[in-house]
Order: sequence, then C-alpha cells, then structure tokens
Amino acid sequence: MMNSHDFRKYAHQFVDWMADYLENIDQRPVKPNLKPHSIYQKIPDLPPQKSQSMQEIFDDFRNIVMPGVTHWQSPNFFAYFPANASYPSVLAEMLTATLGAQCMIWETSPAAAELEEKMMKWLIALLGLPEKFTGVIQDTASTATLTAILTAREQATGWKCNRSGFDGRQRFRIYCSNQAHSSIDKAVAIAGFGKENLVKIDVDDKLRMSSLHLKRAIQKDIASGFSPLCVIATLGTTSTTAIDPLSAIARVCKEFSLWLHVDAAFAGTALALPEYRWMIEGVDNIDSFVFNPHKWMFTNFDCSAYFVRNKDILIKTFEILPEYLKTGMRGKVNDYRDWGIQLGRRFRALKLWFVLRNFGVEGIQERLREHIRLASLVADRVMHAANFEMMTERTLNLVCFRYHPVEISDEAQLDRLNELLLSKLNEGGKLYLTHTRVKGQYSLRLVIGQTYVQRLHVEKAWQTILETSKSFQL
Ligand code: PLP
Repeated sequence: MMNSHDFRKYAHQFVDWMADYLENIDQRPVKPNLKPHSIYQKIPDLPPQKSQSMQEIFDDFRNIVMPGVTHWQSPNFFAYFPANASYPSVLAEMLTATLGAQCMIWETSPAAAELEEKMMKWLIALLGLPEKFTGVIQDTASTATLTAILTAREQATGWKCNRSGFDGRQRFRIYCSNQAHSSIDKAVAIAGFGKENLVKIDVDDKLRMSSLHLKRAIQKDIASGFSPLCVIATLGTTSTTAIDPLSAIARVCKEFSLWLHVDAAFAGTALALPEYRWMIEGVDNIDSFVFNPHKWMFTNFDCSAYFVRNKDILIKTFEILPEYLKTGMRGKVNDYRDWGIQLGRRFRALKLWFVLRNFGVEGIQERLREHIRLASLVADRVMHAANFEMMTERTLNLVCFRYHPVEISDEAQLDRLNELLLSKLNEGGKLYLTHTRVKGQYSLRLVIGQTYVQRLHVEKAWQTILETSKSFQL
C-alpha cells in the first residue's frame, strides 16, 4: 500500500503531468474515435488480489484511459455547453479531495458550511440577484429544478404530499416552453406529477416562451379542472440560448399565484456582465433560480448554484431529523442537508472561493466578454460566407448555423448534408461541435466557452469547417 513518501513523490509527478496536459491540450484530437467497449475490454474482469504499484497504475491511466478521453478543457471543444474548469479551480479540487470532508451538516465541517453561505452571497452580488435571496450549492441544475418543483408541490399541498402522498383530488400542471431542457420532463416525472401534466408552451420567432400562450394555457387548464402549480422560465435554452421574457412571465405567475422557477443553467453566468442584466428584469417576483458555475464560470463540475426567495419553505420541504444527526447547533447554523435532496455533500464552496478570488470579478467579466466577442466574430463569418447561414440570431456565445449550398433547396437533403458535415468534422479531431434542430431544421451548434480559448482556435475552427464543407458531396 502507498505510504506518505510515495504519495508526495507521485503527487509531484501528477502535477507535472497535469500542467503538461493542460498546456498542450490543443494538440490532442478533441474526441477519440473508438469502437464501443474498446476501453472496457482492456480492463481485467476482476480486481487484483495483490497491491499494484502506482507507477503501473499511472502507466495504464496514460495508455488505456487517456486514449478514450474526450478533452472537455480543449480550446477546440465547441460542443454542447462547456463544463469548463480553470487552474485555480483544479487546485481547489486537489485540496478538497485531500480534506475528504463530508459536508452534510455544519458540525461535519463548519468551514465548508460557512464558506458556502458566504460564496452564495458573493454570487448574488456578482449576478445582481435580489439581496433577499438565499443560496445553496447543488450538484446539478437537474437536481436544483427537481428541488424547486418539489418545494412548489409541498407549499401547494400544505406539506401533505410529503406526509401522505397525493390524494388524487388535484391534478397539478407545470409549464415551460417547448424549448426547455429535458431535465424538467425528468423532474416532473420524478416528483410524481406525470409527464402528461408538463405543458409545453409555444415560443415566438426567437424561440422564447410566449407569455400570452402561457396565460391562455393556464386559463384553459383552470377551466378544465386542473391546478396550475409552477412555471419554469429558461434563460439560455440549450438548443439556441433563447431568453424567455422573465418579467412578462412573472406577471402571469403573480396573477395566478404560481411558483416561478428560473433555469439559467448556462446563461446565468452572463449576468456577471451588467450589459446582460436585462435578462432578469422581473427577478424580484421569482421563487427560485439556478445557474451552473460548472458550465461557464471556470469552476470544475459539479457546482450548481440554487437560489430561493424563501429558504424556510425549502427547508420545511427537505428537513428530516434522525437521532444520529441531531446536534446542539441546529437552528443556529446552516445544515445544508436540509436544503435539498442529498444528505452527503462535497466541499464545493472551496473551488468557487478560489475561482472568484483568483479571477476577480473583472477577470471573469473579461473572459466572458472575450467569449461573446469571439462568437460574434464566427457569426459574422457565417453571415458573410456564400454557402452558410445563421439559424438563429446570436444572443450570447452560441452560434447556431448550417451549411447551405445555394444550389440545394430540399430540406431533407440539407439535413443530411449537415449531419454528414458534423460527423466528418468530429471524426477529424481538430474540433468538436454538436447539433440541434431549429424549427425542425438540422443545425450545427458552436459554443465558445472554454476557459482559455483564444481567437486563433476559433479562426482555425472556422477554416476547418469551410475546408471540410468543400471536401465532400452527398
Ligand atoms: N438546463 C439547461 C438550460 C441546460 O442547458 C442544461 C444542460 O446543459 C441543464 C439544465 C442540465 O444541467 P445539469 O447537467 O447541471 O443538470
């Protein structure tokens, strides 16, 4: 077994490897081209009986694992939404792993609880959220949204659902736009409402939820005997970063006394820029809000910041007190196990503290503005290219576009052409993009959000897209 001497030796060796990896990451193919199970087959079916040396394990990490890794921190990674990281965040994660603290209650690590409380205040200030809000770190936006829906359910049933389950007298309805993230469908199913009771509201030409259609849907449901419960507005939809009109939606929610949850998983980070605060006009009237520092705020996965207007309702929904978790400090401090679904919690506030201090607000703003500027540069290239077109207006750092040779007008053919272009681009390893459908049309998504991405990576990516598009025919 490893001793402290070997731990020190390998820790130094690993840090050198980590620094080299991050320094040269743009030289690697972003995504491996592997047959399914090829890594699995290289791993023995049973664990070793005898201890193996760290050197042997590390060699296998380099030879077996690394060829199967998708390099999310590569500046050539333009797929999905980023799960970006940064040097200060990685350093904090090393310390977090070393402490190995389980931060379920204040007693189990007072520093973790108190740093989390303060970091949530820092984020409120950074994003311009109402000062009366209170925050807690969750693992993901999916969990935070489920937490919001469960809290809305309990408040509406006077905490009866927690006690005795659904009584079948009310059929609750939940509303989001038809562009909202699939984590909402999942949360509605898990919370016991039934996916059929998630009402998908039509969007306008910019793919934003229509508050008029929302109001009509609610009125129709009430007339049909349903009980409207909760609305989820999205700031920055996954397909196209459409921004739902929050203040109009908040007015509808107020009129019908509905819980309003805001899913700003990706775009929430942009609120660090005063010029994007228009997105949260009406925020005083929302009930809960989630955004992921682990997406675009340089903080390693996982770290999702969840804010509520009324923390007492949240705690009343999730608190449970077995004898073995009773402490004398209860009520005087934050026991975060009562603020969500999981009991055991990692010390995630530490990496936020490191990131916010090492970047500083200005450093974060500078990076975000640069990402948005680079995205506008790509959008410009697309608009000026003869055979390409934008599929939506760019709002932040996502460019949604497609290859459209002038001689092709058949939509099915254009879909196939873009599907093929995407697979050729991703097979090449020089960049990684993903796709979506915009109004039914197959579209490529290019997101510029990797922490250390520079103009040269973006220019190279655009050149690769242009060259690849010319290199094949249907
Ligand atoms: N909401 C939106 C708008 C998203 O884009 C995503 C993921 O990309 C999620 C929620 C889910 O995020 P998480 O992986 O943190 O659950």
